[in-house]
Amino acid sequence: MTYPGITLALSKGRIFDETVPLLAAAGISPAESPESSRKLIIGTNRADVRLIIVRASDVPTYVQYGAADLGIAGKDVLNEHGGAGLYQPLDLQIARCRMMVAVREGYDYAGQVKQGARIRVATKYVNAAREHFAGKGVHIDLIKLYGSMELAPLVGLSDVIVDLVSTGGTLKANGLVAVEHISDISSRLVVNQAALKLKCDLIQPVINAFSTAVEREAGYQDQGQAAR
Ligand code: ATP
Ligand code: MG
Repeated sequence: MTYPGITLALSKGRIFDETVPLLAAAGISPAESPESSRKLIIGTNRADVRLIIVRASDVPTYVQYGAADLGIAGKDVLNEHGGAGLYQPLDLQIARCRMMVAVREGYDYAGQVKQGARIRVATKYVNAAREHFAGKGVHIDLIKLYGSMELAPLVGLSDVIVDLVSTGGTLKANGLVAVEHISDISSRLVVNQAALKLKCDLIQPVINAFSTAVEREAGYQDQGQAAR
């Protein structure tokens, strides 16, 4: 049952795709892609490294309980989880987006806030939403959703949503507009604290390789900006 190497928890889709280059920098290449394979445990070129494919919001839980030694999760997910038992050594600067408040076009958000109206907020990110509106002194009714938040204001479930936005294309396609920026989001490397001590010789080189790759990428982006 106990795996002698290290287990890294990832979600499929953008996090997996954007992690592949970081893994390559650490000398790790997945034996298959979670898109084409239905396997939830994926081997790598290294006998002592394996990947497990879990739901994005489940990554911190697998790492917290030590079922995975490491994981990659969005700051949004970590904020909702709370981060107990997790060491967070690196911001990987991948899967970047922004957490925003959005409303139906024509909804007078600023006016409602000014009047001190009670606002109905639908979101998957209840901790982030609660914190944001409490900070503004706005009273809210929170409605927890698990996806497709954009629909809520269109059918009268809520006045506003709190959601992740990258291009804004989905909001626009549904007649919504972003009215407030809550935070910038990117994905972090998370490590089980006990595993870091017990398997330091396997885990530390991965952290170091990821860190170097992230710095190199940031360097490229600075150069690109300077050239423009
Ligand atoms: P699920 O699809 O399992 O319900 P999810 O939507 O949170 O969960 P993904 O869509 O794979 O899962 O998103 C994974 C992470 O990528 C999110 O936790 C967030 O940090 C980031 N993310 C989400 N949406 C975007 C986006 N539009 N652009 C860039 N990054 C995003
Ligand atoms: Mg998604």
